[in-house]
Amino acid sequence: MNIKDTLLQRSHGQCELCTAKTELSVYEIPPATDPDSDKCVLLCDSCKTQIEKTAEINVNHWRCLNDSMWSQTPAVQVMAWRMLNRLSTESWAQDLLDMLYLEEDVKAWAESEVDDDTTPTLDSNGALLSAGDSVTLIKDLDVKGTGFTAKRGTAVRNISLTSNPEHIEGRVNGVRIVILTKYVKKS
Ligand SMILES: [Zn+2]
Repeated sequence: MNIKDTLLQRSHGQCELCTAKTELSVYEIPPATDPDSDKCVLLCDSCKTQIEKTAEINVNHWRCLNDSMWSQTPAVQVMAWRMLNRLSTESWAQDLLDMLYLEEDVKAWAESEVDDDTTPTLDSNGALLSAGDSVTLIKDLDVKGTGFTAKRGTAVRNISLTSNPEHIEGRVNGVRIVILTKYVKKS
């Protein structure tokens, strides 16, 4: 039996968070490793897009957690806990969160979410930079270890991002260098 069939059976054919019966699909709870129905929930499109942050959050939609958080399924408890946490500025959500008791291992799972809200890389004007963009230097930069100065106004094409949102990498005078984003402007 595939995962979706298992979940359809477990959930009696409805969204495991809001009980909607349409547009159901399997959601692998991040950080997902091996596909395993115990690590997945069956979600409707509305729940899924809000969880994945591709749709704006509709606070009232999540009143459904009032019921679904009492599910016996750990995967559902984890998603309820995470969503209540996201909504915890709402007093009703905070109240539910206070009532929601999770077994220790389930709690640890709930808290293990990898934060995908990585800080964006922005140029000196606050414009979003992406890999492959071109930027212009807004300041003369002494490039350590190369003995040249990258002049203000130099165009740097095809930049790459780094794990540090304040650093980008690009090629100047044929040398790949790290540049502070506060000294560049997106061109
Ligand atoms: Zn739903």
